[in-house]
Amino acid sequence: MQLDAQIPAGALADKWDNCKFEGKLVNPANKRKYEVIVVGTGLAGASAAATLAELGYNVKAFCIQDSPRRAHSIAAQGGINAAKNYQNDGDSIFRLFYDTIKGGDFRAREANVYRLAQVSNNIIDQCVAQGVPFAREYGGTLANRSFGGAQVSRTFYARGQTGQQLLFGAYSAMMRQVAAGKIELYSRREMMDLVVIDGRARGIICRNLLNGNLEPHIDE
Ligand SMILES: Cc1cc2nc3c(=O)[nH]c(=O)nc-3n(C[C@H](O)[C@H](O)[C@H](O)COP(=O)(O)OP(=O)(O)OC[C@H]3O[C@@H](n4cnc5c(N)ncnc54)[C@H](O)[C@@H]3O)c2cc1C
Repeated sequence: MQLDAQIPAGALADKWDNCKFEGKLVNPANKRKYEVIVVGTGLAGASAAATLAELGYNVKAFCIQDSPRRAHSIAAQGGINAAKNYQNDGDSIFRLFYDTIKGGDFRAREANVYRLAQVSNNIIDQCVAQGVPFAREYGGTLANRSFGGAQVSRTFYARGQTGQQLLFGAYSAMMRQVAAGKIELYSRREMMDLVVIDGRARGIICRNLLNGNLEPHIDE
């Protein structure tokens, strides 16, 4: 069976822009009527949970560790790439896309890597806003280094602990929403199964790692 990755149609640079534009929007007043489940609270999950809650959705976030701060994202060291071209050394969104495809041994999905390159600059802005202490030049601007054999300097870093600092940023944004009552955080829970009803994911089954009980979280 061939996997359908559901990549949107169109030219490479437009695929995800078009998909986003054509997607149905939810009225701001209706967002609080929806509950969204996020499993995993590493950089991806914690940011998703914080952003969804900030938009107004009610979020249930599931964390296998005792604290989201222990997700594997904490291990990342070297830094995070973005095509800001601060060094004026010839960087661009297309070059970041090209380098990432090549660095991934041509195995990654091109449309998704292009999207990553497109939003890379916004990700840095978001992390700075969340308080991530990226290295800076003496003048106060964000510093860059060349990382992983790239021919340009596009890596934003926080000494050798970029992942940890990024995770603290995402964690604080998420905990702000926990305090606001928009995220219900379930720690020490392992997702065991996905509940699919009429072809749609409607919930999950979790193991409570403290007492061993199975817990259903299902949209009734
Ligand atoms: C040593 C190291 C160095 C790296 N250096 C860099 C770097 O310099 N630059 C860079 O860009 N990238 C780097 N990476 C890659 C980058 O860190 C990861 O791609 C990124 O952090 C992944 O984030 P994530 O949120 O998807 O995953 P994770 O942080 O792994 O989060 C996933 C979470 O989901 C939880 N989970 C999984 N299954 C379940 C389940 N069934 N139920 C409940 N919870 C579950 C996990 O426990 C975890 O907490 C590095 C990675 C490593 C390991």
